[in-house]
Amino acid sequence: MISEEEARRRVLQSVRSPGKRVVPLSEALDCFSALEVVARLPLPMFDNSAMDGYAVVADSSKKGTRLHVIGEQPAGIDRKLRVSPGEAARIFTGAPIPAGADAVVMQEDTTREGDTVMVNESVDPGEFIRKRGCDLAEGQKILGLGEKIRPATIALLASQGFADVTVGSKVDAAVISTGDEVVAPGTTLDLDPGQIYDSNLLLLQALVQQCGACVKSAEHCPDQRERLTQTIQRGFKSQVLVITGGVSVGEHDLVQSTLRSLGATIDIWRVAIKPGKPFLFGQANGCAVFGLPGNPVSAFVTFLQFVRPAILKMMGAKNVDLPKVPARLTADVSNQGDRPHYVRGRTENGTFAPVGRQESHALFGLSQSNALLRLAAGESLKAGEIVDIQIWY
Ligand code: AMP
Ligand code: MG
Repeated sequence: MISEEEARRRVLQSVRSPGKRVVPLSEALDCFSALEVVARLPLPMFDNSAMDGYAVVADSSKKGTRLHVIGEQPAGIDRKLRVSPGEAARIFTGAPIPAGADAVVMQEDTTREGDTVMVNESVDPGEFIRKRGCDLAEGQKILGLGEKIRPATIALLASQGFADVTVGSKVDAAVISTGDEVVAPGTTLDLDPGQIYDSNLLLLQALVQQCGACVKSAEHCPDQRERLTQTIQRGFKSQVLVITGGVSVGEHDLVQSTLRSLGATIDIWRVAIKPGKPFLFGQANGCAVFGLPGNPVSAFVTFLQFVRPAILKMMGAKNVDLPKVPARLTADVSNQGDRPHYVRGRTENGTFAPVGRQESHALFGLSQSNALLRLAAGESLKAGEIVDIQIWY
């Protein structure tokens, strides 16, 4: 059995980011940038009005002044107006500021009469003008290597005139659930005694998708060597293969021996982590193979701690860790065991409360939680203490 840190290190060392690709911005969400990008344009690109109103010379537009309206500048082509003291140009939000003007009086503070306008509130120079480059300067870094592309990143790249972006590789994964007792939901509402519905297959599919990877196949396989051999062989065609159940040491746990018979190397078997000890990692023809325990919470925790970072690294992510935030514990917690324990809990308004039964089969508790607290072996913490928790919502 190896430590959690060692397992993570070995997994991350074994997987590579296969390359880069150029994708249209409309398909770039949740990808990771494979290049550093700098601004080629300032934002805003030109001085423009923040309001519908009148562009004026502030010093000659005190409260009570009547100005001559010389023309209109809507958003769009610059009409090359020039505003002198005593004059105003009708202007609209986003329109370029005419030469000579140094402020905008908002429409609500004016009274229009024919080709004149009465100023009802004084303005200061610069008021309601969005200055060229005040948001972003040319040459400023707008996207870092390995940074996640979010909706606002896409908007920023589009504002620079880019139609696409260079991102890390697409990663595809195969998911296999095993077990003679496991039945696909939807096939029957009358299970035979001893049977259970397959929740892990969909859990792992969803987790893979949440990483931004693509689930190429998801299938269930009973504990039969021949069927398992064929199913795993199909799984090897993906870059990542995630198998749940059957990785342990019982007579019906066929995953490890089947993987070996197919020529896979087993680099990790058993990690000091709770839940999740029977964790397996290996490789076969460039496919990263993860064997996760069948217990749903163990599968979930080991996915987040080992599979997620590997997939994110393959996709070109710089940061592969779950986000960590400080939270105040609402209850005493302790770990009497000799393995680090990931306590499932709920974080709300800066607090963390353990939720449900802390056992590896307790799926309901897991479903009510949104964060994990890692307790080192032998560690005890008191209610009120501030701890770092990992969040995944
Ligand atoms: P195993 O790792 O195959 O020994 O399974 C450990 C526990 O997880 C057993 O109680 C199984 O019934 C349960 N289990 C295995 N596979 C699944 C699955 N796909 N969905 C829900 N529970 C499962
Ligand atoms: Mg099993």
